[in-house]
Amino acid sequence: PETITVQELANRMSERAVDVTRLLMKQGVMKKITDLVDADTAQLIAEELGHTVRRVAESDVEEGLFDAPESEDALKPRPPVVTIMGHVDHGKTSLLDAIRHTNVVRGEAGGITQHIGAYQVTSPLGGKITFIDTPGHAAFTAMRARGAKSTDIVVLVVAADDGVKPQTAEAVNHARAAGVPIIVAINKIDKPEANIQRVRTDLLQYELQVESLGGETLEVEVSAKEGTNLDKLLEVIQLQAEILELKANPDRPAEGSVIEAKLDRGRGPVATVLVQRGTLRQGDIVVAGSEWGRVRVLVNDQGETVPEAGPSTPVEILGFNGAPEAGDRLAVVENEARAREIAEYRTRQKREQAAARATVRVSGLEEMMS
Ligand code: GDP
Ligand code: MG
Repeated sequence: PETITVQELANRMSERAVDVTRLLMKQGVMKKITDLVDADTAQLIAEELGHTVRRVAESDVEEGLFDAPESEDALKPRPPVVTIMGHVDHGKTSLLDAIRHTNVVRGEAGGITQHIGAYQVTSPLGGKITFIDTPGHAAFTAMRARGAKSTDIVVLVVAADDGVKPQTAEAVNHARAAGVPIIVAINKIDKPEANIQRVRTDLLQYELQVESLGGETLEVEVSAKEGTNLDKLLEVIQLQAEILELKANPDRPAEGSVIEAKLDRGRGPVATVLVQRGTLRQGDIVVAGSEWGRVRVLVNDQGETVPEAGPSTPVEILGFNGAPEAGDRLAVVENEARAREIAEYRTRQKREQAAARATVRVSGLEEMMS
């Protein structure tokens, strides 16, 4: 049944909650401002106070939130978003760190950078590249599960001394399922026991044919440890991105995905999001999952406060009322009432789903005990 709290009903009418409770009392209904009233009662009260009521189906709450149609002319080129995947210990973290360091050395980043779960670098060819810096698989799958395609290119790291392993294959499957092109980075080539050729032939089993074997998959031999060929890797990523002709409309309300979120002692809820279309601005009202807020501060990957963030830019948002979840999709909405309505709707849905799961568990238990 559709319900609303007395407080929320008052908010939506811009009336005082006490006036609503007083009216309810006149109708013989005793309610505190935190109590729920049903939709019919709410409508009665609203009309009594001279408001026009538009009843919206619950399922329509999220309508138009994402993927509004866009004209081709509005689209502008945007940087690629890259996720590094591969077997454990093959060097994903080392490679991400090394790439970030390259840019620090090149003088494009302001010294020691703070970690926000994603960062942007400039390739030697001049184009920007965004790296998602969170544990590859988890973030990738979480975002995909929520229907957001948040990665344009997967860099598949394979250690030359270890070869193709189960998680290498898993990563290939993930990328395939998402329809994302793979660039193979053969890592640890500094090691004496490195066997680059074996990596290439192993990959054939997974229908991944690298260029040097006559295939179309781009490959780069790297050493994250010694910093070998990192610029080449960035160039190859940019070339792959150019083939993809990635575009987004920067001139519209922002949409994006939450990369990670936490409750910071001093700063409150902090969410790192990847803006995917539109431009996110300070002061915007945002919803992500069952949380919402007004963007108080935006912090870029250099730890600097910025007024706005366009497509493919990772940015930290301060101002959420609670921490959303990694993988949640983010949208800017027109006002607080709508944000609250969506967040409440999703909270209710979550609660109902949890209740349904609990019921299943209890009935399962009963079966076992009977
Ligand atoms: P991850 O689990 O894929 O993130 O792998 P890490 O980046 O944590 O690396 C695992 C180990 O391999 C660490 O001890 C790294 O120092 C080492 N390592 C990573 N890249 C290289 C490399 O290019 N050469 C050598 N010799 N060691 C590397
Ligand atoms: Mg790691």
